[in-house]
Amino acid sequence: MPELPEVETIKRALKKTLQGATITNVALSNKRLRFPISKNALSTIIGQRITGIRRRAKYLLFDLENNLILLAHLGMTGKFYLAHASEQIRQHDHIRLTLANGHELRFNDVRRFGFVDILQRDHANKHDRLKNLGVEPLEKTFNGQCLFSKTRKTKKPIKNLLMDAKVVVGVGNIYASEALFMAGVHPKKIASNLTKEQCNRIAIAVKQVLNDSIKQGGTTLKDFASLNGEQGYFAMRLQVYGRRGENCTVCSKPIDRLVLAGRSTFFCKNCQKL
Ligand SMILES: [Zn+2]
Repeated sequence: MPELPEVETIKRALKKTLQGATITNVALSNKRLRFPISKNALSTIIGQRITGIRRRAKYLLFDLENNLILLAHLGMTGKFYLAHASEQIRQHDHIRLTLANGHELRFNDVRRFGFVDILQRDHANKHDRLKNLGVEPLEKTFNGQCLFSKTRKTKKPIKNLLMDAKVVVGVGNIYASEALFMAGVHPKKIASNLTKEQCNRIAIAVKQVLNDSIKQGGTTLKDFASLNGEQGYFAMRLQVYGRRGENCTVCSKPIDRLVLAGRSTFFCKNCQKL
């Protein structure tokens, strides 16, 4: 399943290639995606120029000239790839946007948990998928102060809070474990008991693990064509995740595992005291 760093990398690649391109036609397969979209709705973007491509959480937003937004989510197996319009359609190509330059942006999704929707820019923040999203972890608004205030009234373990998209978006299970190790905070620590200093360290660590992963992605996906490649977590250098029983890279004691909210959580008892 594509994670935030991957979606960010895909966004950058799409932006480089598609910003300024004009959509001249659209086509749909007869298979339903996670949410259905009608040919009529999709047709409203014909003739429109793509003025920008943004990311919000794990959603891609294509801004169009006529104040519409094409919203896309990759689900489990969704991917975008670019082909010449004359190139044969592949199995699982569900949406095709023909561009004025003779190319086609194709949305291919084997399991069809992904989807595409068209929305009015003015109503974007009220869209069902976007309205309850928390802060973006890579933006300045996510910092120690922000995390400190969001943790004051909750008895949840900090790891669960970090993975709550209503609080902060895009911090997946692996990233949460890695960031808490980097910050020296036990994953089970009750959020309201965190000090401001710990919140600062966690916010910095979250940004660092995500940025490291984006950097990896930048080298993995060198050009747009590779958007078609394998998806999942980028090959990160993991300090704790999946390393139960192996030596901690800081203190050499064995890494532990526990389960929080049904998810495997890895940490060092010695470096991350409760
Ligand atoms: Zn350690």
